[in-house]
Amino acid sequence: MRQLIVIVLGLLVIALIACAIIATRSKRPIAKDVCRLLIALIPPMLGNLIIIASPNWGLARLGCYTYYIGLDITVFVLLQFTYNYCAIAKARRAGIRIAAVLVALDIAQLLLNPVFGHAFTTSMIMVEGMPYHMLVPLLGQRIHRLVAYGILFVSMGIFAYRTFTVPRIYVERYAVILACMVVTTLWETFYIFSGTPIDRSMLGFGFFGLLVNYFALYYRPYRLRDRMLARVVSDMGEAVLFFDLNNTCIYANSVAFSLFDLEDNEDLDCAPMLVEAAINRKISFDSDWSQHCSIRQNGEQRYWNVSFHQLFDERGFKSGSFLTIYDRTEDEQRLQKEVYLASHDRLTGLYNRDCLYDRARTLIDENPDTFFLVIALDIKEFKLVNDIFSKESGDKVLVKIADILRELATPHEVYGRISGDRFGFVLPADEFNPVPIEFRLSNLQVDEGVNYPISPHLGIYEVTNRQLPVSVMFDRAFMAIASIKNDYHNHFATYDDSMRENVVWSQKISSQLDQAIAEGQIQPYLQPLVSSTGEVEGAEVLVRWMHPEEGFLSPARFVPVFEENGCIARMDMYMWECACRILRKWQDEGITQFLSVNISPKDFYFIDVESTITSLVERYGIDPKSLRLEITETVMMSDIEKRLSIIDHLRSYGFIIEMDDFGSGYSSLNMLKDLPVDVLKIDMMILYKTKDYHRAQTILQTIIDLSMQLGISSITEGVETAEQRDMLVNMGCRLFQGYYFARPMPEDDFEAFYQQPKQPHPAT
Ligand code: C2E
Ligand code: CA
Ligand code: CA
Repeated sequence: MRQLIVIVLGLLVIALIACAIIATRSKRPIAKDVCRLLIALIPPMLGNLIIIASPNWGLARLGCYTYYIGLDITVFVLLQFTYNYCAIAKARRAGIRIAAVLVALDIAQLLLNPVFGHAFTTSMIMVEGMPYHMLVPLLGQRIHRLVAYGILFVSMGIFAYRTFTVPRIYVERYAVILACMVVTTLWETFYIFSGTPIDRSMLGFGFFGLLVNYFALYYRPYRLRDRMLARVVSDMGEAVLFFDLNNTCIYANSVAFSLFDLEDNEDLDCAPMLVEAAINRKISFDSDWSQHCSIRQNGEQRYWNVSFHQLFDERGFKSGSFLTIYDRTEDEQRLQKEVYLASHDRLTGLYNRDCLYDRARTLIDENPDTFFLVIALDIKEFKLVNDIFSKESGDKVLVKIADILRELATPHEVYGRISGDRFGFVLPADEFNPVPIEFRLSNLQVDEGVNYPISPHLGIYEVTNRQLPVSVMFDRAFMAIASIKNDYHNHFATYDDSMRENVVWSQKISSQLDQAIAEGQIQPYLQPLVSSTGEVEGAEVLVRWMHPEEGFLSPARFVPVFEENGCIARMDMYMWECACRILRKWQDEGITQFLSVNISPKDFYFIDVESTITSLVERYGIDPKSLRLEITETVMMSDIEKRLSIIDHLRSYGFIIEMDDFGSGYSSLNMLKDLPVDVLKIDMMILYKTKDYHRAQTILQTIIDLSMQLGISSITEGVETAEQRDMLVNMGCRLFQGYYFARPMPEDDFEAFYQQPKQPHPAT
């Protein structure tokens, strides 16, 4: 028996050493404490082993000291382990310091035993035929017990406290070690007080060490894991149903309970049927599957992701299955809202541009045999609605336009808002009826009772080239609108290729203007103004473009384009400067010819005409009388007061103002009343543009007479024949311009021309 205990103790010590070595490799934070505890357990066990094994008194005594002192160290290390294992806050660790002092004192008093013999002694008895030195406890030993048990109980108390205060799923962590401690303590106590001659209490310590090692470092609390998993499943946002091998529902989480109105576990049997009814398919239990479902539940559209999985154990045998239902209705609704916002215009609720283009593309592609129209709608000067009324009123009008489009939409039409006041629609040509849309849009009221004319412009692109991007088709429809931009009466225009060519041409020459000026491609041509006596008195400056690719360009090719996009001011300023330069040169050479320059009505929009011209004249130091300014009556079409004052100023400055193309407009005679001009330039064309030549002749005569009476001189331009000249001379006109005398010519040619001997008029 004695030998057996020694062997078991020896094996336990070896096992503890092995465990301690292995524990050093563990990455768990508690491993250090476990390792220390395992090592601390060894001395008292060895002490115990020596006592049992040794028949020798001295060795047995040594064993006793190792046993007692080792025990002190063990309980102290156990306390440290307890604090760390139970995660006691650092601030509450006074117990460790007290224990350290007590242990130190106890060790000291034990070590004094050889001197005072107060702690213990041994008495020899014979056990199994061999001397056994049994411990005889004295006072010091009792103190030792007090210290050791005291510290041990503190450790047990801490474990017990943790066991009862932690959440239930963690109890196991503490309870197992507490149980080990209790059993070991009982075992120990039993031997201490049982009076059994051989103390085998340390066997308990050995097993305790191994158990703590296992529970602290290797034991995985599966129950804890399972409970946690169960908790996770029950708290999951999705419904989860577990099935056993017979496909009987054995578990449903709370989401599943509420989704299918289950009341208790009894209802679980109906769960598969309820699922099948909801998703409208049989659950197939033999394979994994998943499915997106859109179902109606309580009158509401819901969207589910249903997936089914089989479960297999580690040997590959099927152990059950589970089904999850994720209700993604909110995600779906959010997505639908995002898609809606991304594809619809906020104000009108119509498709936005990108979406309109997409839908139009699909419509055209899916109907290859249908002839489509792409129609752009723009409200003429819509900006004014915003300016005159308010932005809110403007918005209301846009919403009304959207409503009209909605109401009049034909079955195969797609329509949307492109931007601002620009809308678009695409429909089969045979569905298009322009009458109601024109009528409804033209009669739209800004507000109840507010009669402000809304003038819709619709540009139509007939889809002859289906390959074109829809954006380009709409660009073309808008080009068609541009062609009726200034037209209040015509609401429709259909695109043709010349419109695109015009746009391309316009972009091309506008981008080249600066370079053309810098390189001298833009040049002033001078067309002589000849008196009735044949004297050249001056010239009109007319622009010419010697284009490196296009060749000689007449102003008709580019002046209207520049008037449209504002480049005209840049060009005119250059022509005025050319005129000033020529006049400066002439002045220096003693030439007294005057020059007339053209001022486009559009110049007034873009530059300060008055200061530009006066500063030019000042810079070149020329007499303003020698620079005549040709304006047309359209100058007076807007901003009359301001324009009048500019012209007044220019006149007072000394410029001679000529009214160009007089008689070709609407209210020329009326205009004369207010507009202070010095010269009327009458175009011969007024004679030829009418059917009643004689009537026109009378008008021409009247204009000439009127101008004479008003003290305004007149110039007739466009004189092409001697007969015309003679007639005009007879009418009283005394200055002429026209091909009959000379065509516009370069500066040098003009200088040679005006000095040539003249043919006097026969009548003079
Ligand atoms: P406009 O100011 O009425 O200029 C007179 C136009 O009549 C010139 O055409 C001239 O060449 C043409 N013309 C002169 N005599 C005859 C004739 O006997 N028969 C015919 N059929 N035509 C004649 P052009 O140079 O082609 O200029 C056309 C228009 O371009 C001008 O009409 C003017 O409105 C504009 N323009 C020309 N140069 C400039 C300029 O520097 N600035 C601005 N803003 N416009 C200019
Ligand atoms: Ca002119
Ligand atoms: Ca003219």
